[in-house]
Amino acid sequence: MYWHSIESEARSHVSINLSEQDIQKIIQSVMKNVEEALGQPPQETKEVVGAASPIKPIKMKTINHAESKTDGSLNQEQQKPMIFPGMLTPLGSKPGTHAGNKTVSSVQSGSENGVFENMEDAINAGYKAQQIYVKNYSMKNREQILTAIREAVIKEKEILAKMVFEETKIGRLEDKIAKHELAAKTPGTEDLKTDACSGDAGLTIVEQAPYGLIGAITPVTNPTETIINNTIAMLAAGNGVVFNVHPSSKKSSAYVINLINNAIKEAGGPENLVSMVKNPTMDTIQTLIESPKVKLLVGTGGPGLVKTLLQSGKKAIGAGAGNPPVIVDDTADIENAAKSIVLGASFDNNILCIAEKEVFVIDSVADDLIFHLLNNGAYMLSPNELAQIERFVLEENKENKAFGCSLNNKREYHVAKEWIGKDAGVILAQIGVKASSDIRLLICEVDFDHPLVQLEQMMPILPIVRVADIDEAIELAVKAEHGNRHTAVIHSKNVDHMTKFARAIETTIFVQNASSLAGVGYGGEGHTTMTIAGPTGEGITSPRTYTRQRRSVLANGGFRIIGG
Ligand code: NAD
Repeated sequence: MYWHSIESEARSHVSINLSEQDIQKIIQSVMKNVEEALGQPPQETKEVVGAASPIKPIKMKTINHAESKTDGSLNQEQQKPMIFPGMLTPLGSKPGTHAGNKTVSSVQSGSENGVFENMEDAINAGYKAQQIYVKNYSMKNREQILTAIREAVIKEKEILAKMVFEETKIGRLEDKIAKHELAAKTPGTEDLKTDACSGDAGLTIVEQAPYGLIGAITPVTNPTETIINNTIAMLAAGNGVVFNVHPSSKKSSAYVINLINNAIKEAGGPENLVSMVKNPTMDTIQTLIESPKVKLLVGTGGPGLVKTLLQSGKKAIGAGAGNPPVIVDDTADIENAAKSIVLGASFDNNILCIAEKEVFVIDSVADDLIFHLLNNGAYMLSPNELAQIERFVLEENKENKAFGCSLNNKREYHVAKEWIGKDAGVILAQIGVKASSDIRLLICEVDFDHPLVQLEQMMPILPIVRVADIDEAIELAVKAEHGNRHTAVIHSKNVDHMTKFARAIETTIFVQNASSLAGVGYGGEGHTTMTIAGPTGEGITSPRTYTRQRRSVLANGGFRIIGG
């Protein structure tokens, strides 16, 4: 029924705002085609009294835009049947190939290409685009648009990674390329499922329908990657999206929004389906929150953001901070554990929310683990080196501010922002140690109370805490995770240990005997996401996360009332 409604709506309403100039252009191009087909020389589209042309020029009625409906649909006059090149034709080929080689430039004239000076304009454009999208584009069309976006991202993954790296100055370039590749693999319409039940009383189906326009807020740690991932998942579900990006990533974000909009248009989709405000601020977030045109809020970032969205009074999906602990017990394959830990904890210099942030290792295997960590790209900091590094990577919390993975403003320390995501070699150089280029991770032995255990450090310094047994490991790991219920990792061959830890920590992602990256489909099965919605419970988000359930009922077989 959903398919039917899309197609029938598509046939009856072409919901788009056009200026008189746009319509004149379309008519001129159609007339030119007809004339060419009839073997006539092209005619000017103006009233020529007594002209011998077989085709009468059309006098246009002026459309008053004040009369246009604000929901993107057309008023009665505008809804009169009109030939509109490029619409309702199979997508996937370039617009110029539709309708007699005429492009749909009349609807692609906006210069913003998704990036707007103010948030209201971004919302209005996104709202109109989504109305057009949901009414005129089939599931197949959506998939063609998603393919175009994926291809554009893959083609420019190096450029995107470099832009983000240069703008944010955090992480590792080669890992950012991998993250863009991963984000491009976000699932599409295949993720949407319709439930059906039938019986004597008729047929009922439950469809996954779009919310409409979504307001999404992105972090500096995965800026363009989150835009790509959210866009693919949200558009697959029939939504449009307007972004408020992290201000420190606004240039690369604007670039990817342009790239995505170009891909959408090349695939024949509506312009500004994905939009953003050029200079994002807390005020523009407030505009997004308050706009009645924005039906769902999605926030990926720290606990302050999630709290703000959940207090908005609007439906919100919150993907918050993590401080993922790793347990290594005495049954584990220690070499594999060490390799996996180095991979996860050093990937993009530990800025990922899922990355291993502290290790609890059973004392009897601790030396073995450290040996293998050192053999696989880690550098052990001496107590003296650690003390020197603490002086600049940690800052006293003099103003009692909350920061990082917790809203606890009583913490003694913060991580120093300027050291987040820096290379291990750069951190070592600051204390006069020259590291070889294969050093990706710094490790140190500390007590449980150490700030590097308690804070979400987001830098490649991994604290290791020795514990007596699995019970102590689980108890401390749960405490260090601070109830974020985000991600946890265990290296063990003991199923009881794994089960006990999983039940105690209740994280959204629980990885066994692999790097944390396996939890988002990098070296593990399952789809990927850049928005892990732990606080609000949607988990590893995908297109179906961004849908509303709609029930459609055909009662009594649709024929008669029983007994009637
Ligand atoms: P951040 O919270 O500082 O900023 C994220 C976004 O929220 C930005 O766009 C920012 O402008 C906005 N923001 C910040 N505070 C806000 C507030 N009080 N109200 C409204 N908006 C606010 O986070 P970040 O430094 O950009 O990213 C790192 C954090 O995000 C880490 O804590 C990390 O764990 C988390 N993160 C989580 C996920 C996930 O999927 N769960 C993914 C990536 C990052």
